[in-house]
Amino acid sequence: MVSSRLRDIPDFPKPGVLFKDFTPLLADGPAFARLVRDTATRYDGLVDVVVGIEARGFVLAAAVAYELGLGMVLVRKAGKLPGEVLKESYALEYGTAEIEVHTEAFAPGQRVLVLDDVLATGGTAHACCLLIERAGAQVAAVEVVLELGFLGGRDRLRGRVVNAVLTL
Ligand code: AMP
Repeated sequence: MVSSRLRDIPDFPKPGVLFKDFTPLLADGPAFARLVRDTATRYDGLVDVVVGIEARGFVLAAAVAYELGLGMVLVRKAGKLPGEVLKESYALEYGTAEIEVHTEAFAPGQRVLVLDDVLATGGTAHACCLLIERAGAQVAAVEVVLELGFLGGRDRLRGRVVNAVLTL
């Protein structure tokens, strides 16, 4: 179901990258609803809040949080959040990236479900987990639609619960 709703876009956003586009999955109402419901069912009672990683993670996190009746926290690229923030830098293939979360985003010890569309090298998810922990909460699980296993993201997140609907 999920694999047939992912689209390969070669050389996006730069030459050599095979971009895994999940917009066909979002556009398919029954498939999207099933993904959201299945994800929510697996974490029902196990998490207190849902984090979405900008930007595609927001779509998934908002829907799953709504389904669970939980709140959602935004982890955003640097400079986008208006309040006091914590920041993490991480290496990209070329250069570095920075993500932020509001300092007061979590209650102490809250169990957090992290959602994103794709787990590639794991740098983004790892930085997100560090932010959550620095903000005083705990990462219950990292959940993605698609894991690119050959890029080793799961190793980067060793010791954490990582779940992918589909692994390539
Ligand atoms: P990484 O930090 O390498 O795990 O990259 C993960 C982030 O980059 C996620 O937010 C993904 O949305 C995006 N990403 C990385 N590689 C791809 C890809 N091949 N197709 C789609 N999104 C990707």
